[in-house]
Amino acid sequence: MEESKNVFPGRKLVVISGPSGCGKDTVAKTLISKDPRLALSVSATTRRPRQGETDGVDYHFISAAAFRDGVEHGDFVEYAEYSGNCYGTLKSEIRSITSRGLAAILVIETRGAANIIAEYPECLSVFLMPPSVEILRHRLIGRGTDNMDEIERRMALAAEEMKLSGRYRYTVVNDDLTQCVNEISSLIDGYCFELN
Ligand code: ADP
Ligand code: 5GP
Repeated sequence: MEESKNVFPGRKLVVISGPSGCGKDTVAKTLISKDPRLALSVSATTRRPRQGETDGVDYHFISAAAFRDGVEHGDFVEYAEYSGNCYGTLKSEIRSITSRGLAAILVIETRGAANIIAEYPECLSVFLMPPSVEILRHRLIGRGTDNMDEIERRMALAAEEMKLSGRYRYTVVNDDLTQCVNEISSLIDGYCFELN
């Protein structure tokens, strides 16, 4: 992590974290579609694409060997293993977004988020909370992308992840999507762009 210290303007980094299925991707994509000052940091992952996912848009889908190479070459600002796969934020993504004066939206799990917060304490970190554990399970099932074993694994991880919400600058409950997006939009307005 040391190597990338102070490379990016931290106030242009928006970290959105929270348990799988709470709505991070939905919220992030809605935010970005409404605000041209925002761009998604497209992560690299060793996970297989789900139906409907596009390489270079949802993720950069790469092999485990390519991921290891990336780690060795210092290509990642943070990376973590989650439910058997590797995920990482590419420095090249953040660089290309922030060099255009835009804010980068990082949709990442809690250990990666902790690393970004440690390195960029001035970033805007938001923990997205589901309205309840039951609703979280419903959303994971309703998304229809994971089998029941994977859903149970993600629910077990969720219980641990939700204990970490206090480490984030803000916690926002994703109950009504519009309300949630508006709340985060206001935070971004005040935080990432107020000095411009
Ligand atoms: P994550 O990125 O956190 O894993 P997703 O964005 O994939 O979560 O959302 C999981 C499921 O929940 C999707 O089917 C999505 O359409 C649904 N969802 C997201 N936000 C809401 C919301 N506020 N109300 C109802 N359903 C939602
Ligand atoms: P999924 O398999 O559901 O797409 O993602 C699993 C988890 O990995 C989610 O919590 C997602 O936010 C997280 N994730 C996606 N990209 C990254 C990344 O670049 N770094 C880290 N640390 N987590 C990521």
